Amino acid sequence: MPSSAFAELYSLFEAPITALDCGKKCAPYNEGGAPFCCDTRHAVPSAYREEWQFLHAHTNLWHEWQGPTPEETERLRRQTPEHQVLIECLGHRLCQRGYRSLTCRSFPFFPYITRQGEFAGLSYYWEYADRCWVISNLQVVSQEYRQQFIHAYDLLFQRMPGELENFRRFSSSMRRSFSQRGEQIPLLHRDGSTYLVSPGDGKLLPVNAHELPRFGPYAVAAQLPFPDEIQPVEAEL
Ligand code: SF4
Ligand code: SF4
Repeated sequence: MPSSAFAELYSLFEAPITALDCGKKCAPYNEGGAPFCCDTRHAVPSAYREEWQFLHAHTNLWHEWQGPTPEETERLRRQTPEHQVLIECLGHRLCQRGYRSLTCRSFPFFPYITRQGEFAGLSYYWEYADRCWVISNLQVVSQEYRQQFIHAYDLLFQRMPGELENFRRFSSSMRRSFSQRGEQIPLLHRDGSTYLVSPGDGKLLPVNAHELPRFGPYAVAAQLPFPDEIQPVEAEL
């Protein structure tokens, strides 16, 4: 996919996840006050090599990520596919929304691929369930965002078919992990509805997103009579 095609991809995928600023919901729980997905201590964004060329040519927002130690940099680079580059931006106060990478726009979601190889919809990177407020509040994800996400990845898979296989493998690892824990996989389906997927046989159970589990501090907050009034305590994180 030529690097210029990322301009088109970005223009199709501009909608925020939700009308409210979800960064304000999670940042109070992060030491330093940055949203977790904009803090490379928690999540290091990656870009496809062609995407990195596009960003590098058009904005000063990004540089290649360097870890806190050479060993950590090397460790994460080894885990990163050859066709991707680990990158870091200037920080959440200097975000340039038009030049957010595809990983920024997608977080905390990835395209969920069924056993049969179909791109069914959005599921989330479950390792962030204890930090990302959106994962505990899937009911806030707008239909506009869902449709743009699907449109953007449909286009990406047309142009980079190998990525469908990469996300199929990742979805498969999610099925294994959820199956071992006896849990079902939340899916924001491309048909606009929300389901729980049985990781064993792929059966879909329609569900109200309000009823899905909450995690970490957001589970605690949901138990309070006035959930928005919880004051995060750093020592408890
Ligand atoms: S997507 Fe999740 S981690 Fe990122 S700002 Fe929103 S709530 Fe925070
Ligand atoms: S580009 Fe914006 S959304 Fe992406 S990590 Fe940086 S501050 Fe966060």
